[in-house]
Amino acid sequence: MDKNFQEEEFTQIIKFTPPLHKQRHQFVKDLVEKYKPKKVADLGCADCSLLRMLKFCSCIEVLAGLDICASVMKEKMHTLSPLPVDYLQPSERSLTVTLHHGSVAHKDPCMLGFDLVTCIELIEHLEESELEKFPEVVFGFMAPSIVVISTPNAEFNPLFPGVIVYRHPDHKFEWNQAQFQSWALETARCYDYSVEFTGVGHPPTGMEKVGFCTQIGVFIRKCPQTGQSEKPTEAAYKTVFKAVYPSLKDEKYLQNAVISEVIFTAQIIKHHIMLKREEYGDDPERKSKFQPSVNRFSDYLGKLVVEKNVESFVSGNEVHIPLATIFSFPKVNRLCGTFEKLCKLIAGKVTLSNDGSAVMLNIEHENEEN
Ligand code: SAH
Repeated sequence: MDKNFQEEEFTQIIKFTPPLHKQRHQFVKDLVEKYKPKKVADLGCADCSLLRMLKFCSCIEVLAGLDICASVMKEKMHTLSPLPVDYLQPSERSLTVTLHHGSVAHKDPCMLGFDLVTCIELIEHLEESELEKFPEVVFGFMAPSIVVISTPNAEFNPLFPGVIVYRHPDHKFEWNQAQFQSWALETARCYDYSVEFTGVGHPPTGMEKVGFCTQIGVFIRKCPQTGQSEKPTEAAYKTVFKAVYPSLKDEKYLQNAVISEVIFTAQIIKHHIMLKREEYGDDPERKSKFQPSVNRFSDYLGKLVVEKNVESFVSGNEVHIPLATIFSFPKVNRLCGTFEKLCKLIAGKVTLSNDGSAVMLNIEHENEEN
């Protein structure tokens, strides 16, 4: 399904900046930033453009899309897959994106447990029988904390000279503000939600009475969710896409990240030790203990080495850098949480001293690099 193609055509006469479909998605994004839901489902997700925008909201861990038209979802669903950069720098949050083929008139357990459900320009595409079932599926069964519903405001249509019946040939109805609000208030009352009305696409000056071009209802559930146990388990939807993003919550990616960070930090410290050795020559008194001076180190990590007054030392061809020092570096510390976890993650992967207390790096490599 195109993005209300005709609506965009008509709105060239009344120009919305940014375009109306973008304003609707931005509205949802702002709502996500305000309420920070972890699990978001977009019903009638069409070409997944809203999902593509929402995957960058760092609070979201589960994203699901549902549409009755599989082909429109499939067209661009590959754009929801992780990119090479997601593997190179896995995120701290976990993220799973799933697309389902099915109708909002049917219940499926895969839609349970969501915090926010969005229905952007969906309801006006529903047949009468589907619209009748829709409140029970969304508010009764899915019962998320927040539901957002947007739909065209028919009172705005006279401002579009080209609109004779509806803004889009697939629309089954277009409601005026009173019709939408009475349906929304009745739905909210039945399922114990409150609802607030707003919209996007301001009317021209002097015509404020017609209201927003797109009317929006934001429904908030009044009570904590109950009755989950009696919900049916039979699946009605077909999963057409699933992507699990690499995340540092997955031990495999965390281990890689920690090993890289430990080696990187150790290399920085070693580099500064080698600079000091050049400065002090072969005086054994001075080379046995690293006493860095601030002047020589301008970069951030250099300063950290100084602050931590590292107890690293050179023995033969090897630099010993205590794990405790490496652990005190912010990024290593944040990744591992505890010293024990650091030891566990690098065990067998990084060369350590006999007692396991220090990372050992060879000096010769440094000389080769130089
Ligand atoms: N939400 C999209 C556009 C929606 S257009 C956006 O923000 O841009 C309406 C979409 O609802 C279409 O993709 C259509 O296939 C889908 N749809 C229509 N009836 C449906 C139903 N019963 N269940 C689920 N999706 C439906």
